[in-house]
Amino acid sequence: MQKSLLLLCVSCMILWGQGYGLTPKQVAPKLYCFFGDLEVPNTKNNGNMVNTCYIDAGEGWIVFDSGPTYLYAKEAFDAMQGIKSQPVLALFNSHVHDDHWLGNGFYHDKGVIIYGPANFSADHLAIPTRIEEAIQPTFYQGTVPVAPDYLISAPRTLTIGHIKLQLLTFSDPAHTSNDLVLFIPSEGVLLAGDLIFNDRLPSLRDGSLKGWLKALERLKRLSWHVVVGGHGYKTGRDAMHFIDTYLHRLYRQVKEAMEEDVEMGEITKRVRLSEYRTMALYDLLHGKNVIKAYEELEWEIE
Ligand SMILES: [Zn+2]
Repeated sequence: MQKSLLLLCVSCMILWGQGYGLTPKQVAPKLYCFFGDLEVPNTKNNGNMVNTCYIDAGEGWIVFDSGPTYLYAKEAFDAMQGIKSQPVLALFNSHVHDDHWLGNGFYHDKGVIIYGPANFSADHLAIPTRIEEAIQPTFYQGTVPVAPDYLISAPRTLTIGHIKLQLLTFSDPAHTSNDLVLFIPSEGVLLAGDLIFNDRLPSLRDGSLKGWLKALERLKRLSWHVVVGGHGYKTGRDAMHFIDTYLHRLYRQVKEAMEEDVEMGEITKRVRLSEYRTMALYDLLHGKNVIKAYEELEWEIE
């Protein structure tokens, strides 16, 4: 199908009310975010299970994560034009997980410069993508994986429009091997990507428990009063409490069990952290997180 026809289909979906129905929430004076469901991608949420944000830079928008599809990115852009009609000056991708950046193509078509963390590559992306396999095909129309134009490999300061941004990178793997965080000192705002989850369990599958805890210590020292994580609805100073506590308890209990020679086959029965069992995605992710922690800490014990 021709691209113009595809894009027409995407516009028709929105007109017919078959899109996501995205509504931005103002989180700080210059910050608006879209908050997704506390689920994995499925045919009900169609990938809208991620948080993405727009920052008003005075003469244009700065976007943090483009979301799971072209349609999502277009809807977010259109909704923000209703708040203030201005171009997008830059787009940042927090990390390589595809719910956060498969909307890049929409911004790329508009000539927006896209920044991402070091070693970000779309080359290793499985095709069909995880999102494509999980959602309704109509929601995926027009979505093409587009990697960032510039990769940020070291912390730096950047002024875009009237906003000075601090881009934070991490030498050790944390949520993934390369995570990018945006700090806006003048606004006291931190956009943490998937270094912060709340209201649902995180996934350790591509990261490091110890590196993640170290990254959180660094984020705690920054002077912010508003934070938006990649998943979850809390945005105040308490928004870091869950992820910090969960990961610390996971670390301590897996380590204690290993010191008592609990085998890998028994570790998930031992480290249940049942205080989190009613939290979203506990059944799906907690056992996997325990195994991942065991594998990582095994090297420490030996
Ligand atoms: Zn992620």
